[in-house]
Amino acid sequence: MTESPLYVLNTVFGYPAFRGHQQAVIEHVVAGGDALVLMPTGGGKSLCYQIPALVRQQAGKGITLVISPLIALMHDQVGALREAGVTADFLNSSLSISEANEIEQRLFRGEATLLYAAPERVNNPRFLGMLDSLYERGLLSLFAIDEAHCVSQWGHDFRPEYRSLVMLHERFPATPRIGLTATADALTRADIVERLQLQNAAHFVSSFDRPNIHYQIVEKTDVRKQLQHYIQSEHSGEAGIVYCLSRKTVEEVAGLLCEHGVRALPYHAGLDREVRQRNQDAFLKGDDTLPPVVMVATIAFGMGIDKPDVRFVAHVDMPKNIEGYYQETGRAGRDGAPAKAWLCYGLQDVISQKRMIDESPAADAYKEVMRGKLDALLGLAETVDCRRGRLLAYFDDQSLSLEASTRLAYRCNNCDNCQSPPRTWDAALPARKLLSCIYRILQASPGLGFSGTHTIEVLRGKLTVAIERFKHQSVSTFGIGADLSETVWRSVLRQLITRGMVQVDVAAYNALHVTHVGRDFLRSDELMLLRKMPEKNERMQGSKSSKKFSSDKTSKTDLSLSTQGERILRNLKTWRAAVAKEHGLPAYVIFHDATLAAIAELAPLSVEDLSGISGMGARKLAAYGADLLRVVDSQRDDE
Ligand code: ADP
Ligand code: ZN
Repeated sequence: MTESPLYVLNTVFGYPAFRGHQQAVIEHVVAGGDALVLMPTGGGKSLCYQIPALVRQQAGKGITLVISPLIALMHDQVGALREAGVTADFLNSSLSISEANEIEQRLFRGEATLLYAAPERVNNPRFLGMLDSLYERGLLSLFAIDEAHCVSQWGHDFRPEYRSLVMLHERFPATPRIGLTATADALTRADIVERLQLQNAAHFVSSFDRPNIHYQIVEKTDVRKQLQHYIQSEHSGEAGIVYCLSRKTVEEVAGLLCEHGVRALPYHAGLDREVRQRNQDAFLKGDDTLPPVVMVATIAFGMGIDKPDVRFVAHVDMPKNIEGYYQETGRAGRDGAPAKAWLCYGLQDVISQKRMIDESPAADAYKEVMRGKLDALLGLAETVDCRRGRLLAYFDDQSLSLEASTRLAYRCNNCDNCQSPPRTWDAALPARKLLSCIYRILQASPGLGFSGTHTIEVLRGKLTVAIERFKHQSVSTFGIGADLSETVWRSVLRQLITRGMVQVDVAAYNALHVTHVGRDFLRSDELMLLRKMPEKNERMQGSKSSKKFSSDKTSKTDLSLSTQGERILRNLKTWRAAVAKEHGLPAYVIFHDATLAAIAELAPLSVEDLSGISGMGARKLAAYGADLLRVVDSQRDDE
């Protein structure tokens, strides 16, 4: 007789109930069906294949092969399963031949439940030979393809190795497959189905919403100062990730934050393997004697990172598209406690993202799709509506249960626009001034091209060296925009570029040209409503009020403990740090903060009391129960 999924959830993982679609997915997969699972980060995807793996293994069906793209994280993933008493292994290039042999033998003895491997393994003849033998003996139970969006070039993290995974289906047709991802828009989803031949898979699409994440998008003025102020005023002493586009920016920003007393570490593909591993470990594992790490990274960092208590994700450069942005910001607040996503963007971001698309060697059709995706992100950045409403509408999230037309009237009350609705102003006149200024300058200097900076200087009536040299002080638009600041002009220009009215010729010093859309607008009497930039002091107040909001929300881990409870919690954390160190695993793999907080609050007297706490599986209870009771007891107030 096999155990029921719920029984496994309760006893092995120590959780009282399934979340969202977990139960439906698990039952479908246990019964041998294929599945495609879309669940937001932190939604609990792992259990969707781990529990079927356990149940099917008990039924004599053998091992579950988990394809996971990150070799560096397999050690922790397997470590977490072993802590829960599940037999799991990984095969990757870090193992010696004898270690790999030992694992293979365990597989054939039917002792392992889960095997983790990177997608490139699937092209390895020896590995395939091993799968062949397991399959012949009926010991290949299930394929779990994690981060399934990596198979699609439309996704934000295409990995060519994923393409060969379709072969698993062709070679082992009787073994069911489950693909899992946190972020895929409709196009990417359809592509995953086609690339992996998952046409017969049941789709389980959860709401993408991450209600505990607060979204804020600010206009770039001096991004380094803005970031430093943001971290110091809102996230001092908290773990976070800062995303940058280039390796150089990563190094500079990390250096700057360190100078200002933030414990920041760099991470990018140009660093030595060991340095990367060391920085990742410092971020994941932490150290009781040092503050949590702020990781300053390129997008090379983050996939598969399951650290639960990342309190903020900041972007100092604009990402390529909403999928990437949502995936990256989704790394904040996996524990369900309040967390923040902060994006700082400006005119240069728009220009450089457009340039990257234009200059890429890809086919035109591909570039068109990428432009569309970039425009959607720009729309999000410029919107005066609810950010979350926009994000969820992009993924066509049905959970809003609103018609598409009314969906944008949605208010989440946990984003910058909901909390302090931006005022708008009609920029039609300045926009037309700018467009005609581009024309006039080109008329005065035929055959040449001039940048946005130069054009704005002409509008504002500055007598720069370049303006005098080209005699642009005599064009009719010289000085007609002196009433607006340079920042406002830049935001108008950004709009014109975003809306396709102005094109930037990156091959010619970012020279501006008016497109036919711009020409049409110039002749029309259309309005152009733009966000009004808050005045400086308003901006500060805005950030304070959002901070207040987050601390008003009670977080799961932030129980208000008695002084005894606080003492117990402190001691439990010290105990956990020692165990984690001994096992070479991150602390949260031993117990989550929420589990320790619940123990501290309950101050249990017996093993039975402990066993009811969420996150306390049978193996952990047996291994750590006595120690936990001892820690609790030593801190109990004497009656
Ligand atoms: P993701 O979907 O991002 O891969 P994980 O599988 O890492 O999410 O799960 C996120 C966290 O939620 C993990 O710490 C996991 O143990 C926990 N979790 C998952 N399912 C449940 C559940 N049914 N009850 C309580 N906690 C759960
Ligand atoms: Zn909102």
